[in-house]
Amino acid sequence: MLTILTGKDNKILRTPASKVLHFDQTLEDTVEMMIDTMLNPEGQDVTGIGIAAPQVGISKQIIVVTLNVNHKKDPKVLVMINPEIIEASSTLSNYEEGCLSLPGAYGRVKRPAKVKIKWQNLDGNWCEKKLDKWDARIFLHEYDHLVGKLFIDYLESQEIARLTKQGHL
Ligand code: ZN
Repeated sequence: MLTILTGKDNKILRTPASKVLHFDQTLEDTVEMMIDTMLNPEGQDVTGIGIAAPQVGISKQIIVVTLNVNHKKDPKVLVMINPEIIEASSTLSNYEEGCLSLPGAYGRVKRPAKVKIKWQNLDGNWCEKKLDKWDARIFLHEYDHLVGKLFIDYLESQEIARLTKQGHL
């Protein structure tokens, strides 16, 4: 299990991640550890529904997202390497988010309601998919981690002040 980096000013969390070039056993091992860490984050009483490699100190473009998260019977954990956004809807949705790297902090974030994306799987093959609702939101949240962005960057300054005062930031 890996330690999750926390803090809004953590250097690795704020650094854009580099592309994955080698689709090898090391990558598979990293992904496996990321999934374990997401499902059972050390010292936190929550289960993550997504995780990005920088959150465990690895500055590479690797994310894990749980699709179909509202259908408890059939959630699907998907690994995405070097993900890219092909299209994002101008229609936004506004919903509350949290982050394993900012324990206790929650806030409403406006994001595109639908996206078309592509990514490489563990074999290095490109895949493409359209996502909406929570699937799109979870993807966009994790994608942001790869460019050094956190969900609180979308919040108003008074929201940040409130979370800071409450000791969550
Ligand atoms: Zn996060």
